[in-house]
Parts: sequence; structure tokens; C-alpha cells
Amino acid sequence: MSKRLLPLVPDGLSVLQVLSDPDSLTIVTTPQPMPAACPVCQRPSRRRHGVYERILTDLPWQGRPVRLRVRVRRFRCTNPACERRTFSVPLPTVAAAYAHRSRRLGEVQGHLGLAGTVAVT
Ligand SMILES: [Zn+2]
Repeated sequence: MSKRLLPLVPDGLSVLQVLSDPDSLTIVTTPQPMPAACPVCQRPSRRRHGVYERILTDLPWQGRPVRLRVRVRRFRCTNPACERRTFSVPLPTVAAAYAHRSRRLGEVQGHLGLAGTVAVT
């Protein structure tokens, strides 16, 4: 099933697990490896601090709501002069910071909103 779903996952994510039930689909993913650099001082870091999970609503699949569980890695900033202690790698192709929906779902909803506006006027 994951091979069929692979094209349906936003670019930049790898599928770890697919959890399916009759009413919804949950895809557990991890960002594809990319260099981590502190957003404040720009120093690269390989010191892992941990992992946390972001839950994002994504485009529905065959009429079923889809949730993406993205395991985001946190790193330590190794620059002692930097004010930032830890940071996570952003997901620019997947979702905006602090967003609860995927970027592509937001784009579709934006287009639908515009279409509704045009239809009303
Ligand atoms: Zn830093």
C-alpha cells in the first residue's frame, strides 16, 4: 500500500508507516535527511536533541481524510555564543511553521475559496 501512496505524500517526506481505518488514513513520515543549521547563527549541527511529532491535515485520499504524522528532528546549536539552544529543521515543501495543515491542502482550500468568491459575485 505504501508504494501506491508514495506519490501522494508531499515532496521531502519518506513514509514510515501507513495506518488505515475505514474512516481515515494516517501516514507516519519522516523528513528526508537534509543538513541542519541553526536559524539564528547559521552554524551547522549534527547533535541531535530529540524528535517530536507534527500532525498535519493533508489532502483527502479516495474520500477519506488524511493525517500526516511527521517525525521532526530537533538539533542542539553547538555555538556557545548563540542564544538558541535547540532548533528543528523546517519543512518548507510540506508545511509552514506552526501550521496544522499541509501546504498543498492550504493551496487547494485557497483556490476553492477564490472560486467561491467568484461564483458569489
Ligand atoms: Zn545558533
